[in-house]
Amino acid sequence: MYTMFIECNLKYNFMALVFKEVAAVKTIGMLGGMSWESTLSYYRIINEGIKESLGGLHSAKIVLYSVDFAEIEALQHQGDWEKTAEILGGAAQSVERAGADFLIICTNTMHKVFPVVEKAVGIPIIHIADATAHVLQKNYIHRAGLLGTRFTMEQPFYRGRLEENFNIEVLVPDEAGRSVVHEIIYRELCTGQINQDSKERFLSIIEGLRDQGAEAVILGCTEISLLVQQSDTDVLLYDTTALHAAKAVELALWEA
Ligand code: GLU
Repeated sequence: MYTMFIECNLKYNFMALVFKEVAAVKTIGMLGGMSWESTLSYYRIINEGIKESLGGLHSAKIVLYSVDFAEIEALQHQGDWEKTAEILGGAAQSVERAGADFLIICTNTMHKVFPVVEKAVGIPIIHIADATAHVLQKNYIHRAGLLGTRFTMEQPFYRGRLEENFNIEVLVPDEAGRSVVHEIIYRELCTGQINQDSKERFLSIIEGLRDQGAEAVILGCTEISLLVQQSDTDVLLYDTTALHAAKAVELALWEA
């Protein structure tokens, strides 16, 4: 149990200290390595969030299972999602056995197999699209652009969830735009390459989505924020990595 100082009340002639009991901080389970470039972002954001809340030397309790992304990527492009689900389901069970209280799958694309992974474990999983959609809803965004891998932009498992569960209309780039985004994600961002030319192509696609009526653009691939940041554009960006990681911190600290 932590006792956290949250308020110092000087209203009266004495100092009244108000304390709030914070339940034991939970252990965050992470399925990472998809790619490890973005798992690094998760690790940093989560630890920063815990430190910001608890101060001092506090850091996050994390159980991370990092897969070999080459295996996953090959199976994705062969369409063998069943095998990817088997790998992630097994990894999730290892994370649960190692003591995680809940789980995050650190990639948008692999939420395609979310239902299988969810069934494989007894601990809750925070869905990345839900973590994002809650913030969009809070900010009254009803029509959003979506950038991600082809799988994320084109298949119903992700955009369907936003549309059906959250009533958010989703716009994606045209075929040529989707192809550019997909290729840059796999060939460059997942291998740690950040190119100015690619950044400009992304920014022009983002502006195109705004011109089509998007009130904001979801960075629906966990590596995109390595290339494009809010300071690069006046189009509102929603970074799924940051939102998902923030939700994990919130759950680790506060929720029952
Ligand atoms: N990290 C990316 C995503 O958020 C792409 C890599 C993958 O296919 O998992 O979708």
